[in-house]
Amino acid sequence: MSIAFPFDNSFATLPEGFFLRQPPRPASAPELLAFNAPLAADLGMTGEAPPEELAQIFAGNQLPEGADPLAQAYAGHQFGGFSPQLGDGRALLIGEVVGRDGQRRDIQLKGSGRTAFSRGGDGLAGIGPVLREYLVSEAMAALGVPTTRSLAAVATGDTIYRETALPGAVLTRVASSHLRVGHFEFFAGRRDPARMRLLMEHAIARHDPRADGPLSFLKGVIARQAELVAQWLSLGFIHGVMNTDNTTISGETIDYGPCAFMDGYHPQTVFSSIDRQGRYAYDNQRHVLPWNMAQLASALLLLEEEAEGQVEAYTQAVHAMPGLIDAATLRRFGQKLGIAEADEADRGLIEALLTLMQNEGADFTNTFRALGEDPGRAGTMFSDTAAFAGWRRDWDARIAREEAPQDLMARVNPAVIPRNHRVEAALAAAHQGDLAPFRDLHRVLATPFSLAEADSAYAAPPRPGEEVQATFCGT
Ligand code: AMP
Ligand code: MG
Repeated sequence: MSIAFPFDNSFATLPEGFFLRQPPRPASAPELLAFNAPLAADLGMTGEAPPEELAQIFAGNQLPEGADPLAQAYAGHQFGGFSPQLGDGRALLIGEVVGRDGQRRDIQLKGSGRTAFSRGGDGLAGIGPVLREYLVSEAMAALGVPTTRSLAAVATGDTIYRETALPGAVLTRVASSHLRVGHFEFFAGRRDPARMRLLMEHAIARHDPRADGPLSFLKGVIARQAELVAQWLSLGFIHGVMNTDNTTISGETIDYGPCAFMDGYHPQTVFSSIDRQGRYAYDNQRHVLPWNMAQLASALLLLEEEAEGQVEAYTQAVHAMPGLIDAATLRRFGQKLGIAEADEADRGLIEALLTLMQNEGADFTNTFRALGEDPGRAGTMFSDTAAFAGWRRDWDARIAREEAPQDLMARVNPAVIPRNHRVEAALAAAHQGDLAPFRDLHRVLATPFSLAEADSAYAAPPRPGEEVQATFCGT
């Protein structure tokens, strides 16, 4: 018996100009590295198949009935410059399913070979970046962050060539859609309002059925992205390449390339090897997202017959975003300190702690977790004990007014995150054919708000010499 998905493909019904059909490149010796059975069940997958058959399916060698593989067209601003044509250069949408929860989701193969949008690239991915995306995206989901998901990772048995020869792999990615800001910029760049309107209607049906036109659609995207970036900030997450082609309409995190979680707190932390100017540094994310939304706004203006009169309303919508991000960030950092609904008066308390943490490079995740579990232990993390004691007096006085601050803190401050040195170690072992560290890390990250004593090493920051200095896209 084999497996089946309840495909119901809608993007594929859009007319010419949105995508190009393309079969995946066959893999020579597919081998299943990981499979997300609970997610498969949520998607409405039925039947069963042995690992060898799952490997054939998720390598793209043997597509399930109803799959209709295609590469989507999109554009994007990359590090500030406009690329009028990017598109799925190494990914194929194989179809959409409506899952058990009624939610429509895309299923996509990433690393499945060249497409019409590949430009100079080979269309392939390596097992390192594929397992990295699998781990980090699933960790984000477990942390409660809107994100694309990972259904399967398959080694292809083929070699890919980067700086060195590497084993190839395909990731099966699931998303509430793969629509990006760059999809709208594609039609804006071509001055094609008719197709842009169809695209918007498709996006509204999937993500915001109450939106009644481009301006309210824009406001919806802004609201979702504001919540998302606040959530990233509250977890110390750095996406690394927040280009508009990596900014979704759904508000899900997408494209885990050089992303990373901070260990020691510093607002200007950058990991991505390609981000030399620090454009996408941790704290700059709150400034870059409004810039990305300005690109969406100017694309959507193509749909306004009298663009002149509308510019002001669109500008205001974009200008409102920093305030939305700020409010969402204040709320989330308040909760990290046990304050259910922080207000302006709490801002100083939050900032004072972050300043202390920055001065000492205190571990972002562990400081907040320790404050909730045992503030005395948190105190030992600061060498300036007097400064910490002063801050703690103010904090104690503030949370005396809260009902169950420790419970709240335990729910929002993870005990474990995908620390870079752990992720790198798991990938290095996988390259040697040992998947045990990957599987163990994946297991621990599935329940990030509770950590068994036996797993406590996963909460440890890197020792000197273990720190990861830079992360790479792996493209
Ligand atoms: P990314 O940096 O992964 O967000 O990709 C940016 C653009 O480059 C997208 O259009 C990708 O499809 C394309 N791309 C990235 N890597 C490759 C590759 N190995 N082959 C072809 N296209 C690629
Ligand atoms: Mg991308």
